[in-house]
Amino acid sequence: MKNSVKIIQSTSVMMLLILSLLAYGQTQKLPNVVILATGGTIAGAGASSTGSAYTSGQVKIEAMIDAVPNIRNLANLRGEQIANVGSQDMSVKVWLDLTNRINELLKGPDVDGIVITHGTDTQEETAYFLNLVVKSDKPVVLTGSMRPSTALSAEGPLNLYNAVAVAASPKAKGQGVLVVMNDEIHGAHNVKKMMTTPVQTFQSPEEGPVGSVIFGGVEFFNNQNGLNTVNSEFSVEGVKTLPRVDIFYGCADASADLIDYMVKAGAKGIVIAGVGDGNMNAPVLEAVKKATASGVKVVRASRVPVGVVLIQGEVDDEEYGTISSDQLNPQKARVLLMLALLKDRSREDMQKLFIEY
Ligand code: GLU
Repeated sequence: MKNSVKIIQSTSVMMLLILSLLAYGQTQKLPNVVILATGGTIAGAGASSTGSAYTSGQVKIEAMIDAVPNIRNLANLRGEQIANVGSQDMSVKVWLDLTNRINELLKGPDVDGIVITHGTDTQEETAYFLNLVVKSDKPVVLTGSMRPSTALSAEGPLNLYNAVAVAASPKAKGQGVLVVMNDEIHGAHNVKKMMTTPVQTFQSPEEGPVGSVIFGGVEFFNNQNGLNTVNSEFSVEGVKTLPRVDIFYGCADASADLIDYMVKAGAKGIVIAGVGDGNMNAPVLEAVKKATASGVKVVRASRVPVGVVLIQGEVDDEEYGTISSDQLNPQKARVLLMLALLKDRSREDMQKLFIEY
């Protein structure tokens, strides 16, 4: 009798041991994804589930992960809080902190992918910045939400679930930095925030999204254009700040003295959010000519949301010393110009960068 109890006991212990080992093995097989949180509406909270008033960056990353059912089945997850701001307050300092942390994490064999939670207002700028300075081909995915966590039909939890699925997917390796929102995967080079509040705000109007992610099912059907990550020549290792680059918004009868002011204030570069094909009125062109002659680099982008700015089109770039942003909108052209200004380069070399990146 005693012996049979012992046998049953030791069999149960063995079974438990085997089950634990199996469970451990399962956990081990999952990819390791780190979520770096920076705030935004995805971490926002408001008093009412149907009101539009809320404050960004209220919920901490661990609470955000816990709010997403089954997310831990996709990857071994851990979170780090890098910042907790609405992305209108995103800064070069956070960009540099984020880059250094991502490069450090991805160097290790124990991290397979990174997700960054981020406000949507400047998400495309951060994504494009990281696209140029992350030194790894492992997946780096930004996500956010348009509705705060307390809103009716908040889409943040599904966006986070899908972003983790993409960061955990071997298919995302070598795709550059990505933005996952509203079931779509976009390349950092092309993605733009196109609408003020709807959930379908992120679009890649020139090239389309690079893939889709439906309840964690990842498919890629395109590659983003432009050099990125391991193929990018840019690095912010040891960099503490970036040169000042301002954006001038073109319009009918625009005031040219604003260009003079930017130069006086210390801008090393100016991006023109020009009318049409990166154009500007005659007084602004003259102010730009003066600025470029003094060594300031001036890039012509467009306030029009879609399309390429032509080199030597209606504006004579050689005469005015200007550079075309090619496909980049003004805010992304500013990011590339800030990085390009870390080195002394001719106008021609700068123009080449805008075509390649
Ligand atoms: N201003 C907020 C932000 O960018 C709102 C946009 C959002 O996150 O959806 O953080």
